[in-house]
Amino acid sequence: MHTNTHLNPVIIASENGRGGAIAAMELLRRGGSAIDAAELAARVTEDDPAEHSVGFSGLPNLLGEVELDASLMNGRSLETGAVAGVQNYANVISLARAVMDQLPHVLLVGQGAERLAAELGQQPADQRTLESLDRWRARFAEQGMDLSSMELRHLVTRLTMPLHLEDRVPHGTVNYLVRDTHGDLASAVSTSGLAWKYPGRVGDSPIIGAGNYCDNRYGAAACTGSGELAIRVSTARSLVLYMKMGMRLAEAGRECLAEIEQLKPRTGQYMNIVAMTPDGQHSGFSTVPNKHYLYFTGEMAEPALGERVTSG
Ligand code: ASP
Repeated sequence: MHTNTHLNPVIIASENGRGGAIAAMELLRRGGSAIDAAELAARVTEDDPAEHSVGFSGLPNLLGEVELDASLMNGRSLETGAVAGVQNYANVISLARAVMDQLPHVLLVGQGAERLAAELGQQPADQRTLESLDRWRARFAEQGMDLSSMELRHLVTRLTMPLHLEDRVPHGTVNYLVRDTHGDLASAVSTSGLAWKYPGRVGDSPIIGAGNYCDNRYGAAACTGSGELAIRVSTARSLVLYMKMGMRLAEAGRECLAEIEQLKPRTGQYMNIVAMTPDGQHSGFSTVPNKHYLYFTGEMAEPALGERVTSG
């Protein structure tokens, strides 16, 4: 039984989360649950062909294959589900939801996750678009590189350690943190990961505790940026844990940024965090300046952008 009802619903997202936030707020206003709203929001972003870092139309790995990762967490029950390295199926956030709801596991990868999608009746569908493939072709095939027969390990290192910022590899993710009218929290993250990644590379997004974490009692956090950094210091869980240990939101976020900085990010590597307290206060953090996050609360007519606190 819920004791708190009719609280103001709150959605916090990465800057690319506008469409999903609008759909999710409608659901929350009708009394929908945080976990349903978080899943719906991520689905909307996954389906958007203009968003090249999430779902359909995501950017491919070095072999020209799109590999999708997603996870979500229910802050009421601490149940969670995740999938990684999924090819040829849409809406991986709902696959993560099925892992959470229907399996005695929390994370499925590659062929196992694709098998589950097929069992659930999903039809395979190429997640690449001409546009996303063209960017890959322009970067590699048109330079005369046949990646299918190459050793990729040196290439991927060169690509992800550029000397100049403008040569950095494109990447992105969508984050959603949701509080429903009952006060329940949920988080959801979906991504195609780092473009031109080594096949099988998994970032922070499907790693619970790194890419997202939420607990009704203490708050929620999620990350975008160079996933390897968030995995190394368990950023999302750390932020929530710091709040559990008594830190205020701003202090907990700054501590997480300091931990990322201690890893000495390479040129082009950075980390963004969004976070929320159980009572709906929110903030964004970034290791680089001029980054924003999105917030949308029940009394607002549309989502707005807030500036992220920076460590730089
Ligand atoms: N965090 C994602 C990953 O490392 C990418 C991103 O958010 O830019 O896979």
